[in-house]
Amino acid sequence: MAEELSCDDAIEGLKALLSEKSDLETLAAAKIKQLTADLEAASAPVERMKTGFAHFKTEKYEKNPDLYEELSKGQSPKFMVFACSDSRVCPSHILDFQPGEAFTVRNIANMVPQYDKIKHSCVGAALEYAVLHLKVENILVMGHSCCGGIKGLMSIPDDGTTHSDFIENWVNICASAKNKVKAEFGDLDIAELCTHCEKEAVNVSLGNLLTYPFIKAAVLSKTLTLKGGYYNFLKGSFDFWCLDHGLSPPLTV
Ligand SMILES: [Zn+2]
Repeated sequence: MAEELSCDDAIEGLKALLSEKSDLETLAAAKIKQLTADLEAASAPVERMKTGFAHFKTEKYEKNPDLYEELSKGQSPKFMVFACSDSRVCPSHILDFQPGEAFTVRNIANMVPQYDKIKHSCVGAALEYAVLHLKVENILVMGHSCCGGIKGLMSIPDDGTTHSDFIENWVNICASAKNKVKAEFGDLDIAELCTHCEKEAVNVSLGNLLTYPFIKAAVLSKTLTLKGGYYNFLKGSFDFWCLDHGLSPPLTV
């Protein structure tokens, strides 16, 4: 049976060739060195994922057999979370959600579009599954500081000209937040406007959630609550607020 040559084996082979063949022409030696560096660079992401999973397996999976045994039978999360795709705002890290606790949708600027069976149906499908099948009890829409998606929304010119294939069309879901912030705080600088819009866009998404008939019905029957959240990673703070047919004052943690 032919022996499989892994990337690591190839790197080691090239290194050995380099050390043994000291009389190789300079150009050939340089080429092998470059190839070795390229192979090492290519294998680094795989190694990162391998060591990451190994850490998870020994430190979490194997230390919590009861949890993972229970989760193998199914999931019944109490939370559904909308968070930004931003790599700094993973809700499982920030709110310490454990596996099985939070059904999560992540997208640019943590937005919830209005009910529409054609456009953005991936969000509708996730909401339908979470609310009607998993029967989550809380939906959290979680905004955050320094959100690139919100900055993109605030940067769309008033004439509506766009330059991206997808991004601006997506973040325009919360165009009403942008308009409200500009009307109320128009004299502030762009960074301050963005901070206001990061929170106001959460409110727009909370309102949009109520356009889904099954969500409105669950809220009215008090089996589902809608919550807004704002994670400020500059201050290390998290604000929560509730949508109970109106917005309550925020509670800072
Ligand atoms: Zn963001």
